[in-house]
Amino acid sequence: MPHTHRVAPGASIDLSKAPTRADGFHDDKNAARHEFRELREELVEWQRRLYAHGQHKLLIVFQAMDAGGKDGTTKKIMRGVNPQGVRVESFKVPSTRERAHDFLWRIHRVVPPAGYITVFNRSHYEDILVPRVHKLVPEEVWQARYRMINDFEAILAGTGTHILKFFLHISPEEQRRRFHERVHNPLKQWKFSVQDIEKARDWNDYMAAYEGVLAECSTAAAPWHVIPADQKWYRNLAVIRVILDRLRTINPEYPPHGYDPEEIDF
Ligand code: ATP
Ligand code: MG
Repeated sequence: MPHTHRVAPGASIDLSKAPTRADGFHDDKNAARHEFRELREELVEWQRRLYAHGQHKLLIVFQAMDAGGKDGTTKKIMRGVNPQGVRVESFKVPSTRERAHDFLWRIHRVVPPAGYITVFNRSHYEDILVPRVHKLVPEEVWQARYRMINDFEAILAGTGTHILKFFLHISPEEQRRRFHERVHNPLKQWKFSVQDIEKARDWNDYMAAYEGVLAECSTAAAPWHVIPADQKWYRNLAVIRVILDRLRTINPEYPPHGYDPEEIDF
Protein backbone atom coordinates (compact mmCIF):
# COMPACT_ATOMS: atom_id res chain seq x y z
CA MET A 1 0.00 0.00 0.00
CA PRO A 2 1.51 3.40 -0.87
CA HIS A 3 2.10 5.69 2.07
CA THR A 4 -0.40 8.36 1.05
CA HIS A 5 -0.29 11.39 3.37
CA ARG A 6 2.96 10.35 5.02
CA VAL A 7 5.40 13.20 5.67
CA ALA A 8 8.88 12.24 4.43
CA PRO A 9 11.61 12.93 7.01
CA GLY A 10 12.78 16.51 6.68
CA ALA A 11 10.08 17.48 4.17
CA SER A 12 8.45 20.84 4.73
CA ILE A 13 4.70 21.08 4.38
CA ASP A 14 2.68 24.21 3.73
CA LEU A 15 -0.53 23.39 5.57
CA SER A 16 -2.42 26.18 3.83
CA LYS A 17 -1.86 24.19 0.62
CA ALA A 18 -2.28 20.71 2.05
CA PRO A 19 -5.78 19.43 1.24
CA THR A 20 -8.39 19.16 3.98
CA ARG A 21 -10.76 17.32 1.65
CA ALA A 22 -10.44 14.05 -0.20
CA ASP A 23 -10.61 15.66 -3.64
CA GLY A 24 -8.20 13.79 -5.84
CA PHE A 25 -7.77 10.92 -3.41
CA HIS A 26 -11.11 9.18 -3.13
CA ASP A 27 -14.46 10.57 -4.11
CA ASP A 28 -16.82 7.70 -3.60
CA LYS A 29 -18.24 8.02 -0.12
CA ASN A 30 -20.12 4.72 -0.11
CA ALA A 31 -17.21 2.72 -1.44
CA ALA A 32 -15.02 4.35 1.20
CA ARG A 33 -17.45 3.45 3.99
CA HIS A 34 -17.61 -0.11 2.75
CA GLU A 35 -13.84 -0.42 2.62
CA PHE A 36 -13.59 1.15 6.08
CA ARG A 37 -15.90 -1.42 7.62
CA GLU A 38 -13.96 -4.28 6.09
CA LEU A 39 -10.69 -2.88 7.31
CA ARG A 40 -12.11 -2.41 10.78
CA GLU A 41 -13.05 -6.08 10.95
CA GLU A 42 -9.52 -6.88 9.97
CA LEU A 43 -8.21 -4.51 12.66
CA VAL A 44 -10.26 -6.32 15.31
CA GLU A 45 -8.58 -9.59 14.35
CA TRP A 46 -5.09 -8.07 14.31
CA GLN A 47 -5.62 -6.54 17.72
CA ARG A 48 -6.68 -9.92 19.10
CA ARG A 49 -3.47 -11.43 17.78
CA LEU A 50 -1.29 -8.56 18.98
CA TYR A 51 -2.67 -9.04 22.47
CA ALA A 52 -2.37 -12.84 22.39
CA HIS A 53 1.16 -12.64 21.01
CA GLY A 54 2.03 -10.17 23.75
CA GLN A 55 5.27 -8.75 22.36
CA HIS A 56 4.62 -5.86 20.03
CA LYS A 57 3.44 -2.39 21.04
CA LEU A 58 1.59 0.09 18.89
CA LEU A 59 1.32 3.79 19.69
CA ILE A 60 -1.11 5.89 17.67
CA VAL A 61 -0.90 9.66 18.12
CA PHE A 62 -3.71 12.03 17.15
CA GLN A 63 -3.19 15.76 16.99
CA ALA A 64 -5.64 18.28 15.56
CA MET A 65 -7.14 21.68 16.08
CA ASP A 66 -10.27 21.71 18.28
CA ALA A 67 -13.13 19.81 16.66
CA GLY A 68 -10.60 18.25 14.31
CA GLY A 69 -11.91 14.77 15.02
CA LYS A 70 -9.49 13.18 17.48
CA ASP A 71 -12.31 11.71 19.56
CA GLY A 72 -14.43 10.74 16.57
CA THR A 73 -11.61 8.95 14.78
CA THR A 74 -10.67 7.04 17.93
CA LYS A 75 -14.28 6.02 18.50
CA LYS A 76 -14.83 4.89 14.91
CA ILE A 77 -11.60 3.03 14.45
CA MET A 78 -11.53 1.26 17.78
CA ARG A 79 -15.12 0.06 17.72
CA GLY A 80 -15.23 -3.67 18.31
CA VAL A 81 -11.70 -4.18 19.61
CA ASN A 82 -11.12 -5.94 22.92
CA PRO A 83 -10.91 -3.06 25.42
CA GLN A 84 -8.59 -5.17 27.52
CA GLY A 85 -5.75 -4.67 25.04
CA VAL A 86 -6.40 -1.07 24.04
CA ARG A 87 -5.92 2.14 26.00
CA VAL A 88 -6.81 5.70 25.16
CA GLU A 89 -4.85 8.45 26.88
CA SER A 90 -5.91 12.11 26.67
CA PHE A 91 -3.57 14.89 27.62
CA LYS A 92 -5.00 18.07 29.08
CA VAL A 93 -3.30 21.18 30.41
CA PRO A 94 -0.56 19.76 32.67
CA SER A 95 -1.40 19.62 36.39
CA THR A 96 0.86 21.15 39.02
CA ARG A 97 2.29 17.71 39.72
CA GLU A 98 2.92 17.03 36.04
CA ARG A 99 4.52 20.41 35.60
CA ALA A 100 6.95 19.65 38.39
CA HIS A 101 8.47 16.95 36.15
CA ASP A 102 10.01 17.07 32.69
CA PHE A 103 7.40 17.26 29.92
CA LEU A 104 7.85 13.64 28.86
CA TRP A 105 7.23 12.21 32.32
CA ARG A 106 3.47 12.01 32.05
CA ILE A 107 3.81 10.65 28.52
CA HIS A 108 6.33 7.91 29.18
CA ARG A 109 4.31 6.35 32.00
CA VAL A 110 1.39 5.63 29.65
CA VAL A 111 3.09 4.40 26.46
CA PRO A 112 1.85 0.96 25.41
CA PRO A 113 3.25 -2.09 27.20
CA ALA A 114 3.86 -5.32 25.26
CA GLY A 115 0.75 -6.57 23.48
CA TYR A 116 -1.11 -3.27 23.71
CA ILE A 117 -2.35 -0.57 21.40
CA THR A 118 -2.41 2.89 22.96
CA VAL A 119 -4.09 5.88 21.35
CA PHE A 120 -2.90 9.33 22.35
CA ASN A 121 -5.60 12.01 22.15
CA ARG A 122 -3.15 14.94 22.10
CA SER A 123 0.38 14.17 23.12
CA HIS A 124 3.87 15.44 23.95
CA TYR A 125 3.55 17.62 20.83
CA GLU A 126 1.30 19.94 22.83
CA ASP A 127 4.46 20.86 24.71
CA ILE A 128 5.82 22.47 21.57
CA LEU A 129 2.59 23.83 20.08
CA VAL A 130 1.00 25.57 23.05
CA PRO A 131 4.12 27.19 24.53
CA ARG A 132 5.18 28.37 21.07
CA VAL A 133 1.85 29.89 20.05
CA HIS A 134 1.12 31.49 23.40
CA LYS A 135 4.75 32.46 24.05
CA LEU A 136 4.81 30.72 27.41
CA VAL A 137 8.51 29.93 27.33
CA PRO A 138 11.53 31.36 25.48
CA GLU A 139 11.97 30.05 21.93
CA GLU A 140 15.09 28.00 22.83
CA VAL A 141 12.98 25.98 25.22
CA TRP A 142 10.38 24.74 22.73
CA GLN A 143 12.99 24.53 19.94
CA ALA A 144 15.03 22.09 22.02
CA ARG A 145 11.99 19.86 22.39
CA TYR A 146 12.07 18.73 18.76
CA ARG A 147 15.26 16.83 19.42
CA MET A 148 14.16 15.61 22.83
CA ILE A 149 11.00 14.22 21.27
CA ASN A 150 12.88 12.57 18.41
CA ASP A 151 15.26 10.98 20.89
CA PHE A 152 12.38 9.85 23.09
CA GLU A 153 10.50 8.33 20.15
CA ALA A 154 13.72 6.66 18.97
CA ILE A 155 14.02 5.00 22.39
CA LEU A 156 10.46 3.75 22.15
CA ALA A 157 10.89 2.53 18.57
CA GLY A 158 14.24 0.94 19.39
CA THR A 159 12.61 -1.07 22.15
CA GLY A 160 9.76 -2.50 20.11
CA THR A 161 7.14 0.23 19.90
CA HIS A 162 5.59 0.97 16.54
CA ILE A 163 4.63 4.63 16.34
CA LEU A 164 2.17 6.21 13.90
CA LYS A 165 1.32 9.90 14.18
CA PHE A 166 -1.63 11.63 12.57
CA PHE A 167 -2.40 15.29 12.15
CA LEU A 168 -6.10 15.53 11.32
CA HIS A 169 -6.14 18.53 9.03
CA ILE A 170 -9.41 20.48 8.90
CA SER A 171 -10.12 23.86 7.33
CA PRO A 172 -11.07 26.83 9.51
CA GLU A 173 -14.47 26.82 7.76
CA GLU A 174 -15.08 23.23 8.77
CA GLN A 175 -14.01 23.99 12.33
CA ARG A 176 -16.50 26.85 12.44
CA ARG A 177 -19.26 24.53 11.18
CA ARG A 178 -18.45 21.98 13.84
CA PHE A 179 -18.33 24.59 16.61
CA HIS A 180 -21.72 25.86 15.46
CA GLU A 181 -23.11 22.34 15.56
CA ARG A 182 -21.67 21.80 19.05
CA VAL A 183 -23.08 25.05 20.42
CA HIS A 184 -26.57 24.36 19.12
CA ASN A 185 -26.85 20.64 19.70
CA PRO A 186 -27.76 19.84 23.34
CA LEU A 187 -25.94 16.51 23.05
CA LYS A 188 -22.74 18.21 21.97
CA GLN A 189 -22.77 21.43 23.96
CA TRP A 190 -20.53 19.91 26.63
CA LYS A 191 -17.78 19.53 24.05
CA PHE A 192 -17.50 23.25 23.49
CA SER A 193 -15.66 25.74 25.61
CA VAL A 194 -15.27 29.47 25.06
CA GLN A 195 -11.49 29.01 24.98
CA ASP A 196 -11.99 27.05 21.76
CA ILE A 197 -12.94 30.30 20.02
CA GLU A 198 -9.90 32.07 21.41
CA LYS A 199 -7.66 29.28 20.15
CA ALA A 200 -9.31 29.40 16.74
CA ARG A 201 -8.24 33.04 16.44
CA ASP A 202 -4.64 31.86 16.62
CA TRP A 203 -5.20 29.56 13.64
CA ASN A 204 -2.24 30.76 11.58
CA ASP A 205 0.14 30.60 14.52
CA TYR A 206 -0.98 27.05 15.24
CA MET A 207 -0.50 26.09 11.60
CA ALA A 208 3.04 27.49 11.70
CA ALA A 209 3.69 25.54 14.90
CA TYR A 210 2.34 22.34 13.33
CA GLU A 211 4.48 22.91 10.24
CA GLY A 212 7.51 23.08 12.52
CA VAL A 213 6.58 19.82 14.21
CA LEU A 214 5.93 18.06 10.89
CA ALA A 215 9.23 19.24 9.42
CA GLU A 216 11.32 18.37 12.48
CA CYS A 217 9.69 15.26 13.89
CA SER A 218 8.58 13.01 11.05
CA THR A 219 11.12 10.18 11.19
CA ALA A 220 11.31 6.72 9.66
CA ALA A 221 10.69 5.26 13.11
CA ALA A 222 7.79 7.58 13.94
CA PRO A 223 6.29 9.11 10.81
CA TRP A 224 3.69 11.87 10.73
CA HIS A 225 0.70 11.71 8.40
CA VAL A 226 -1.31 14.75 7.37
CA ILE A 227 -4.85 13.52 6.89
CA PRO A 228 -7.47 15.52 4.98
CA ALA A 229 -10.12 15.54 7.71
CA ASP A 230 -13.03 17.75 6.65
CA GLN A 231 -14.92 14.65 5.51
CA LYS A 232 -15.14 12.10 8.27
CA TRP A 233 -15.61 9.17 5.88
CA TYR A 234 -12.33 9.94 4.17
CA ARG A 235 -10.46 10.71 7.37
CA ASN A 236 -11.45 7.41 8.97
CA LEU A 237 -10.48 5.42 5.91
CA ALA A 238 -7.14 7.17 5.43
CA VAL A 239 -6.17 6.61 9.07
CA ILE A 240 -7.23 2.97 9.29
CA ARG A 241 -5.37 2.18 6.07
CA VAL A 242 -2.11 3.36 7.60
CA ILE A 243 -2.73 1.42 10.81
CA LEU A 244 -3.62 -1.77 8.96
CA ASP A 245 -0.63 -1.47 6.73
CA ARG A 246 1.54 -1.51 9.83
CA LEU A 247 -0.30 -4.35 11.55
CA ARG A 248 0.05 -6.49 8.44
CA THR A 249 3.78 -5.85 8.52
CA ILE A 250 4.03 -6.65 12.23
CA ASN A 251 1.96 -9.74 11.50
CA PRO A 252 1.50 -10.90 15.11
CA GLU A 253 0.61 -14.58 15.41
CA TYR A 254 -1.26 -16.47 18.08
CA PRO A 255 1.42 -17.93 20.35
CA PRO A 256 2.12 -21.67 20.32
CA HIS A 257 0.02 -23.32 23.03
CA GLY A 258 2.45 -26.10 23.95
CA TYR A 259 -0.06 -28.91 24.44
CA ASP A 260 -1.92 -31.46 22.38
CA PRO A 261 -5.67 -30.71 22.55
CA GLU A 262 -6.39 -34.43 22.12
CA GLU A 263 -4.37 -35.26 25.23
CA ILE A 264 -6.20 -32.96 27.61
CA ASP A 265 -8.23 -35.01 30.09
CA PHE A 266 -11.42 -33.04 30.85
P1 ATP B 1 -11.94 18.15 22.67
O1 ATP B 1 -11.03 18.13 21.47
O2 ATP B 1 -13.00 17.09 22.63
O3 ATP B 1 -12.43 19.52 22.99
P2 ATP B 1 -9.73 18.45 24.28
O4 ATP B 1 -8.59 17.49 24.08
O5 ATP B 1 -9.68 19.74 23.60
O6 ATP B 1 -11.05 17.70 23.88
P3 ATP B 1 -10.02 19.99 26.57
O7 ATP B 1 -10.10 19.70 28.02
O8 ATP B 1 -11.08 20.78 25.90
O9 ATP B 1 -9.86 18.62 25.83
O10 ATP B 1 -8.65 20.73 26.25
C1 ATP B 1 -7.43 20.26 26.57
C2 ATP B 1 -6.52 21.45 26.44
O11 ATP B 1 -5.28 21.13 27.04
C3 ATP B 1 -6.22 21.83 25.01
O12 ATP B 1 -6.49 23.18 24.83
C4 ATP B 1 -4.74 21.53 24.86
O13 ATP B 1 -4.08 22.43 23.99
C5 ATP B 1 -4.28 21.70 26.27
N1 ATP B 1 -3.02 20.97 26.52
C6 ATP B 1 -2.78 19.67 26.40
N2 ATP B 1 -1.50 19.40 26.68
C7 ATP B 1 -0.91 20.56 26.97
C8 ATP B 1 0.41 20.94 27.32
N3 ATP B 1 1.37 20.03 27.43
N4 ATP B 1 0.66 22.23 27.55
C9 ATP B 1 -0.31 23.14 27.44
N5 ATP B 1 -1.58 22.88 27.12
C10 ATP B 1 -1.88 21.59 26.88
MG1 MG C 1 -11.41 21.14 23.68
